[in-house]
Amino acid sequence: MNRYSKALMGTYGQPQRVLARGEGCYVWDDEGNRYLDLLAGIAVNALGHANPALVQAVSSQLTTLGHTSNFFTTELSVKLAEEVLRISGAPAGSKVFFCNSGAEAVEAAIKVTRRTGRQRIVALEGAFHGRTMGALALTHKQAYREPFEPLTPGVTHVPFGDVGALAAAVDNTVAAVFIEPIQGEGGVRPLPPGYLAAARRITRDAGALLVLDEIQTGIGRTGTWLAHQRPEIGSEDPDDVPPDLVTLAKGLGGGLPIGAVVAFGEHVAGLLGAGQHGTTFGGNPVSSAAGLATIGEIDCTGLLQHVRELGEQWAADLAAVDHPRLGGVRGLGLLLAIQLTQPVAADVAKAALDAGFIVNAVAPDAVRLAPPLVLSKEQADTFTLALPGLLDTATKAAEEK
Ligand SMILES: *Cc1c(COP(=O)(O)O)cnc(C)c1O
Repeated sequence: MNRYSKALMGTYGQPQRVLARGEGCYVWDDEGNRYLDLLAGIAVNALGHANPALVQAVSSQLTTLGHTSNFFTTELSVKLAEEVLRISGAPAGSKVFFCNSGAEAVEAAIKVTRRTGRQRIVALEGAFHGRTMGALALTHKQAYREPFEPLTPGVTHVPFGDVGALAAAVDNTVAAVFIEPIQGEGGVRPLPPGYLAAARRITRDAGALLVLDEIQTGIGRTGTWLAHQRPEIGSEDPDDVPPDLVTLAKGLGGGLPIGAVVAFGEHVAGLLGAGQHGTTFGGNPVSSAAGLATIGEIDCTGLLQHVRELGEQWAADLAAVDHPRLGGVRGLGLLLAIQLTQPVAADVAKAALDAGFIVNAVAPDAVRLAPPLVLSKEQADTFTLALPGLLDTATKAAEEK
């Protein structure tokens, strides 16, 4: 820890533990303590740690061909693009751009929207779209933005979940509306039912693009490939809410860095032309192999159904825990937040870590759960059983401050 603070910038504060290895849903620290990982590197390790199929795909690719530059392509990169289009349910003429992270996917999407000839972008209060200068302009949190102003101009934030406010803000000068189907960093806040369908109508009427940021919610996290494919979030009729662009990252590589922008339909896919965007590592063979292995494993082990069933059961079990600090459970699939009746989430996360569970205080009064999609019911139950004790410990710790 001492060496960490001497060698690394203080952007993340002091790390909580030094982790040494992982297997399945567990990680171990450098002192040999085991933790049930209910955060999965923030919704990244979809298949858990050291998944044999992922390890095999990545290592054998690295021994074959590790990097090419984008003067060339590989079979893997094309195949992953085809798979991403398939799981997105994208219509004919749709195309993918690969990059290396969530923020890069958002940056690429912003550049696509500029090619409409319009410059204004509407995002939601509470939104998180990344930390690079363009993405940061869409991110709402003042503490993240203020030290770096001026940011990319032309961004308006509208109140979360308010259809009227969105309709009022979107006219024919707006290039795009960016929306997370469930706000992740904003506290695991699902949009009210019908909001996305309304946003689709409003953007279509104004000739603006609808961009869904599924970086946290995509790749099976909510029990469908993309969260907007769930009727609770999108629409009963999957054809009702076809977005124009979707950004992906986090879970896509199962732990290796890769991001993607999916452009739905020819009219969007053609907006960025030759020479108008690029990145050295985007879609490299190793990350593409990881993406293919991740999608392949989710498919062949039936993980989408598992996530739907376990997510629903776990949310109900957690909500049924009887404790005065517990205010409810929100979210969908395996992206959940435990709502607390007092701002003691940081104390709960600390008590959980000391008891062998990795969770995250996503808001002062909310604890986020975003475990590997392979989490078992038995593993989930160990946390549910421990929760009352963790809430007691956290309450005591908060009172002693
Ligand atoms: C994490 C996240 C990002 C940023 O991704 P990075 O890989 O950290 O740059 C953007 N949007 C959403 C919704 C996210 O959850």
